[in-house]
Amino acid sequence: MSVNVLFAASEARWSEYEGPMRDALAAVGVEAHIATDMAPGDVDYIVYAPNSDLQDFTPYTRAKAVLNLWAGVEAIVGNPTLHLPLARMVDPALTQGMVEWVTGHILRLHLGMDAHINAAPGTWKPKAPPLAFDTRVTVLGLGELGAACATALSQLGFDVAGWSRSPKEISGVTCLSGPDGLDEALQRADYCVLLLPSTSATENTLNARTLALMPKGARILNPGRGPLIDDDALLAALDTGQIDHATLDTFRIEPLPADHPFWTHPKVTVTPHVASETRAAYSSKTIAENIRRGEAGRPFLYLVDRQAGY
Ligand code: NDP
Repeated sequence: MSVNVLFAASEARWSEYEGPMRDALAAVGVEAHIATDMAPGDVDYIVYAPNSDLQDFTPYTRAKAVLNLWAGVEAIVGNPTLHLPLARMVDPALTQGMVEWVTGHILRLHLGMDAHINAAPGTWKPKAPPLAFDTRVTVLGLGELGAACATALSQLGFDVAGWSRSPKEISGVTCLSGPDGLDEALQRADYCVLLLPSTSATENTLNARTLALMPKGARILNPGRGPLIDDDALLAALDTGQIDHATLDTFRIEPLPADHPFWTHPKVTVTPHVASETRAAYSSKTIAENIRRGEAGRPFLYLVDRQAGY
């Protein structure tokens, strides 16, 4: 029997996904009709992109689940009309992309690459960079992405700690949790990587108080979400030298407004929410697997805890 899948996303995204989604569903043996428009009462699954126009889920009485195309669910998790199971995106390409962005941007700062790239011709000032063994990294958030980044950094030789809501055990990583764990994690953070979800509990995790806990001259990388940082507190900490550099991929408003001080601050690197893309060829497989599970009466993968907000 064929299932009806509503692809609730822009036409541009649909043209990117149409082929991979059909292939992925066929590969798991699910016969499906997929379209960007469908009578709500006929829909079995909703594939949801966060910039979709769909806001009222009330008429989708037959649907079994909403399958979010992105890892972050802040655009949909609080929707009061949504009473269906909500699954988020986890796929190996998303994880790999984040590992590459995080390790690449840490190594840029750690090795002092900019000094050589920007040096005037003829500059010959050899200075050995520190070793990873002598450098402490803290990853806030030890979920799918944070745990993979922490592990990769540990394998590169960094002294890595991580912080999460519930206690964790990850080989090579000092795992901390709870409010006291955050302070301890930051006190030893030469580098702090934010890979927390955006929820009411994580807003302004880095604020004037917590930034002051970090060693002077610490560096911050935020591929998580803009609201995790109090922007004004970060700018103040950069100006005093408490924080040496911030590499930011996510912002409270995106695109980052042209007049935002982050654009021109000499100690800030802005990347335009590119840390890790949801790629059609890989994410379609996660969606297809969840539809296969739904049809087989098995539990969905990567379900969101609506109470916790992620
Ligand atoms: P997960 O849900 O797998 O992991 C989230 C982690 O954060 C978990 O370890 C969780 O703890 C921890 N956490 C949540 N709330 C708290 C809290 N209040 N206190 C302490 N720890 C907390 O998410 P992912 O790793 O898949 O993704 C993380 C985020 O990365 C996404 O939500 C998204 O915002 C961002 N992202 C950014 C991308 C980009 O291109 N810039 C691309 C993809 C994702 P616990 O383990 O105990 O539940």
